[in-house]
Amino acid sequence: MTKFKVENIEMDLIRKNIKNIHLTVYPPDGRVKLTVPRHMDDEEARSFALSKLTWIIKQRKKYASLEKQEKREYITGESHYYLGQKYLLNVIETMGKHRVELREEGCMDMYVRPASTPEKREKVLFEWYRQKLKELLPFYIEKWERIIGVEVKEFGIKRMKTRWGTCNTRDKRIWINLELARKAPQCLDYIVVHEMVHLLEKHHNKAFRDYMNEFLPAWKTIKNELNEINTQ
Ligand SMILES: [Zn+2]
Repeated sequence: MTKFKVENIEMDLIRKNIKNIHLTVYPPDGRVKLTVPRHMDDEEARSFALSKLTWIIKQRKKYASLEKQEKREYITGESHYYLGQKYLLNVIETMGKHRVELREEGCMDMYVRPASTPEKREKVLFEWYRQKLKELLPFYIEKWERIIGVEVKEFGIKRMKTRWGTCNTRDKRIWINLELARKAPQCLDYIVVHEMVHLLEKHHNKAFRDYMNEFLPAWKTIKNELNEINTQ
């Protein structure tokens, strides 16, 4: 294994008896490994890495922000998002009910018991996110039912690691990722439309994309935005 640098990013270069180049960025620290066929020279490997630089940077940023996200402490002064808006968290100790309230000045007041743990505070915030989505989603679904002409029998909200939504076409039930509460409202539109279009077309094929273009012409832009590295 040799190490080399492309635009200040250090990469491990490994030569193996393989046919194709493999480029991997590893979480959590964004280590880059480039595995190339044995005969390939350094210059060729470097120019391949250079051609993938945008992707490498994007992956590294994603892992960095995930790391940051996980290290949230839920303390006063931290920023948290709701419907794409940034709020400064203000933790207030109370013996009363746990709750979250937004204030006009971009403050998110969180009422919790004294000495509550970060895990508990996270739970309070996500319960609030869930409540908010529960209130909002029926409006989104009704709006799109009229436009798309399909009926959603039931919706659910859950935290998902790898998907923004799912659709059970048989039961006409859609699931929405709780994390969407953090994202801008158009992201909620996009996921609701995507899952509802599955009631017309199960697969991500041409027909599916045609429906998306018809109902939500900006879907691709929103999709990219949603899957972009979180800079939160
Ligand atoms: Zn889908």
